[in-house]
Amino acid sequence: MARAALPVDGTRFSKIVEIRDLLLTKPNPMRLESGQPDFDTPDHIKQAAIEALLAGKTGYAPSSGVAEFKQAVVEKMSGHNGLATDTDHVIAVQGGMHGLFVTVSAVAAPGERVLLANPNWGATKNVVIATGAVPVFVDMEYDETEGFTLDPKALAKAIEAHQPVAFILNNPHNPTGAVIPDDTLAEIVRVCAERGVHLIGDEAYEDIYYTSAKPKLAATLHQQLKLHSPVTSVFTFSKSYSMTGWRLGYVVTNDDTTITRLKKLVLYSANGINTFIQFAGAVALTGPQDCTATFREGYRRRRDLLVEAVSAAKAFSCAEPKGAFYLHAKVENGISGDQMAALLVEKHELGTVPGGFFNAHGEDGFIRWAYCCSEDMVRRAAEIIATL
Ligand code: PLP
Repeated sequence: MARAALPVDGTRFSKIVEIRDLLLTKPNPMRLESGQPDFDTPDHIKQAAIEALLAGKTGYAPSSGVAEFKQAVVEKMSGHNGLATDTDHVIAVQGGMHGLFVTVSAVAAPGERVLLANPNWGATKNVVIATGAVPVFVDMEYDETEGFTLDPKALAKAIEAHQPVAFILNNPHNPTGAVIPDDTLAEIVRVCAERGVHLIGDEAYEDIYYTSAKPKLAATLHQQLKLHSPVTSVFTFSKSYSMTGWRLGYVVTNDDTTITRLKKLVLYSANGINTFIQFAGAVALTGPQDCTATFREGYRRRRDLLVEAVSAAKAFSCAEPKGAFYLHAKVENGISGDQMAALLVEKHELGTVPGGFFNAHGEDGFIRWAYCCSEDMVRRAAEIIATL
């Protein structure tokens, strides 16, 4: 009997994995293809997990999250993000990808449209497809000095044209390293609220920014503007605390229907999130935060090395990234992003991801470097890039 096609059949495995497999056949590869931070998880967080294990925190967790964890999230949202919420509007999830999956599943019915900025982290589009919703796009603008920006007027037009139920906004942004200034973000928040579009903030890089002040969350601006539309924010410990392998995150929403659906979705997909890991997560959020500043400064140094190299190179140009740990470079020597990525792997053992992976319109003449690998590796890469 023929098997019916499922929404998930419309997704693709990540191009990043393809590139990584090729790169790992090389003797001395430079791993600038991957968003895996080189920093280890801080010891006090590891210690908290060990203590929770030894204290017997090994049973089922409530499916919406351990009380201590949810309380820590509420305190973090208030102190770190200036957002008032309560434990009834917070849920533990298994990292950012799971958070996005359950959030999109809670917000969009199969066949409904979900708007994304283009380019975007390719996985987001695939998450939308896997849930049965339909991704539609609003193009960011590109300018050599400003880099990639999102115009609120273009967003309003895209909403009118596509009639999406939700807009997923990742800020600071993967792959472009763009950070939306607070005043523009406030306009974006308004555009969504006035049209009843559920704003989903993908806050994976909230702590990795090189602007003078921490960029505000869309949800915080929404609350300050006293708007009344649904807003949901998805957080992960992966980047802020270098905890990619722990698989922990949380979702905060102002919408009662969404939190009820999220509770059911987490219950029937994961039956709750690892208990002792949540205790460690609570310590990460409420304990000393100097690790996030140390990571940020480490990434800033790596960014500066790469930006300097790209400025010296003839084959590339870029605007200075303002956040996350990605540099999206324009290929200036007449070959495509795909060809450049292949050449860099083959000839220089240097990992990148071609822009076509992130761009809904396909090959776009860009390549993305992730500069979260070791400073030595970034330095070696920068020396090569400067000569190209
Ligand atoms: N959102 C963005 C934009 C990302 O780049 C990532 C990971 O690279 C995630 C979400 C998900 O992170 P994780 O599933 O590791 O928590």
